[in-house]
Amino acid sequence: MEGSILPGSKIGIFGGGQLGRMAAIAAKRMGYRVIVLDPTPDCPAGQVADDEINAPYDDVEAAKELARRSHVVTVEFENVPADTLEAIEHIVPVRPSSKVLRIAQNRIAEKTFLAQKGFPVPNFRPVRNPKDLLQAIKEIGFPAVLKTAIGGYDGKGQRKIESPEEVEKVLNSLGQMDYVLEEFVNLEREVSVIVARNLKGEEAVYPVAENTHSNHILDTSVMPARIEPALSKQAQELAIAIAQALDVVGLLCVEMFISTDGRLLVNELAPRPHNSGHQTFDGAVTSQFEQLIRAVCNLPLGSTELYRPVAIANLLGDLWQKGEPNWLAVLEISDVKLHLYGKEEAKIGRKMGHLTATGSTPSEALQKVISARNRLSEFVRFMNS
Ligand code: ADP
Repeated sequence: MEGSILPGSKIGIFGGGQLGRMAAIAAKRMGYRVIVLDPTPDCPAGQVADDEINAPYDDVEAAKELARRSHVVTVEFENVPADTLEAIEHIVPVRPSSKVLRIAQNRIAEKTFLAQKGFPVPNFRPVRNPKDLLQAIKEIGFPAVLKTAIGGYDGKGQRKIESPEEVEKVLNSLGQMDYVLEEFVNLEREVSVIVARNLKGEEAVYPVAENTHSNHILDTSVMPARIEPALSKQAQELAIAIAQALDVVGLLCVEMFISTDGRLLVNELAPRPHNSGHQTFDGAVTSQFEQLIRAVCNLPLGSTELYRPVAIANLLGDLWQKGEPNWLAVLEISDVKLHLYGKEEAKIGRKMGHLTATGSTPSEALQKVISARNRLSEFVRFMNS
């Protein structure tokens, strides 16, 4: 294929967390070389890459070094400063581009882009000062959610506002930054769709994932989602249309809400591998990580077919608080897969790993992976009783 970056070439990855690590594993399996840029030495991706550069993400000189040493550069998270990426785009192909990242890293830009293109989003207003907030509350009503425009993840920087008294409180603590206020959606379900696009504009879309969150952090995800086929199709078509509108080269995960009144709404865009796609590592013909490598290297895309329904359960640092989880209790279940990301410090809320299980139905896969995870915490309780 013309313009393909072939195995043996070097892929540069901004960000050395678990997403970069699993992308590096996929790349290495296909014979690529990998170099990671991350501020922390021996980061999860650095442990499997050929090389790592340790520097902050806004260090343009370090980014240029990554660019010079790579045949293509990608990102494992969307908050790599778009300016840094833009500064190296003349040296190396950056996929997805700084333009895509600039939109995805600012909720005002992202929601405005989606709304202008006619994609369904929760009702929202940009909030840049106290006056905007009062006007937005008037227009959106209660309950509403105030989110910081930049830098939020896993629900950080979010606040539900349910009454005029709460508006007063929020007004007093409003920082010198931009926000969006959006309607609080009564959720029937949360789903996401990952779509891959290569430079030629070929697309491959994964089955819809159905997600549950705990304290705003993804807890479990199962593929395919237990929703009507027509709704699945609608969600997949929506994700493809957004990837086209953004001209993404790489992966795009579109997080969506299904409201109790039957609306399918886009919550967020992540132009990178996504936690709700980890199922594909063990459960699909082509994992999202291999698909990322194929897309950014402009290779033909792989099949997104699932071998069987497949579910993951995240392992957060909370599990370690009473001692090392009992891995053997999980590994005894011969068809459950353990993934650990090589992070040293198990902080509360930190994603340390995940478990994967398949089943003859999505519910069975989900039940199996949750009961496997329960074994870890039950054992910890037992140890300390
Ligand atoms: P982050 O970028 O911090 O992950 P999100 O905007 O994705 O934040 O929100 C995290 C979670 O919070 C969502 O998955 C959902 O469960 C809940 N949430 C966010 N916005 C809304 C909303 N407008 N209505 C209802 N729940 C919401």
